[in-house]
Amino acid sequence: MKIIMLGAPGAGKGTQAKMIADQYSIPHISTGDIFRANIKNNTELGQKAKTYMDKGLLVPDELVVDLIMDRFKETDCKDGYVLDGFPRTIPQAEALDNALSAIGEKVDFAINVEVPDENIVTRMSGRRACVGCGATYHIAYNPPKAENICDRCGKDLVLRDDDKPETVQKRLSVYHEQTQPLIQYYEKKGVMKEVDGTVDMKDVFAAITAILGE
Ligand code: ADP
Ligand code: ADP
Ligand code: ZN
Repeated sequence: MKIIMLGAPGAGKGTQAKMIADQYSIPHISTGDIFRANIKNNTELGQKAKTYMDKGLLVPDELVVDLIMDRFKETDCKDGYVLDGFPRTIPQAEALDNALSAIGEKVDFAINVEVPDENIVTRMSGRRACVGCGATYHIAYNPPKAENICDRCGKDLVLRDDDKPETVQKRLSVYHEQTQPLIQYYEKKGVMKEVDGTVDMKDVFAAITAILGE
C-alpha cells in the first residue's frame, strides 16, 4: 500500500503517518526527518537543505527527488510506504508518478489532513520534537510524561527553529502556493481522501483506518 499524507505544516501528517506505519507494517518516510538527520550529521545535503528550511522555503525539487528515489531502493519499501512531507510540489508528484509507473505501480491513497490556518500557529508553537529519536509531542494536546523529556528515549525535547511564529507564517503561504495544488492533482487521479484534522488524534486515525480498510 502506497500512501501520501497531505496537509498544511502542523496539520498532523507526521502524527498520523506514524500510527499508519505501525498499524499496516509499512515504513514511515518523512523527508523533513531525513533532512533534519542530515543537518545533525552535518552532511553536504544537510548544509544545502538548512539554508532553505531556516527561511521556511522548500528545498529544491531535484535534491528532494534524488533523496526519495534512493530511499525507495531500501528493502523495507517492497510492500509500500506512507510518505509524510513528499510530494510537496507538482513536479515532485510527477516525478513520483513517473517512477511508479515505470515499475507498473501507483499511489493508492492521498490523505489530506484538513486543519484551518487559524489552528496552525498554536499547533506549531506547542510542538516539541525529540533531539534523539524525532518523536513529536504537543505541550497541551500530547504532552510527554515528564516535561521536555522524550517518553520513548529519554532525550531532550526542543522547539524546532522553523516552528517559531514568524517562520510558520512563511511556511503556510508556501504551502498554499506550492503544495495545496496537489489536492486537485490527486483528485484527478481518483485517489484523494479528506479527513478532519481538528478532532482528537485518535479520531483522526479512526477516520483514516475507515478509508484504508483493515
Ligand atoms: P512539517 O512537518 O511541519 O510539515 P517537515 O518536517 O515535513 O515539516 O519539513 C520541514 C522543512 O523541510 C520544510 O519546510 C522544507 O523546507 C523541507 N522539506 C521537507 N520535505 C520537503 C519536500 N518534499 N520538498 C521540499 N522541501 C521539503
Ligand atoms: P505535521 O507533520 O503535519 O507537520 P505533526 O504531526 O508534527 O504535524 O503535528 C503538529 C503538532 O500538533 C504536534 O505538536 C502534534 O503533537 C500536534 N497534533 C497532531 N495531531 C493533533 C490533533 N489531532 N489534535 C491536536 N494536536 C495535534
Ligand atoms: Zn526520543
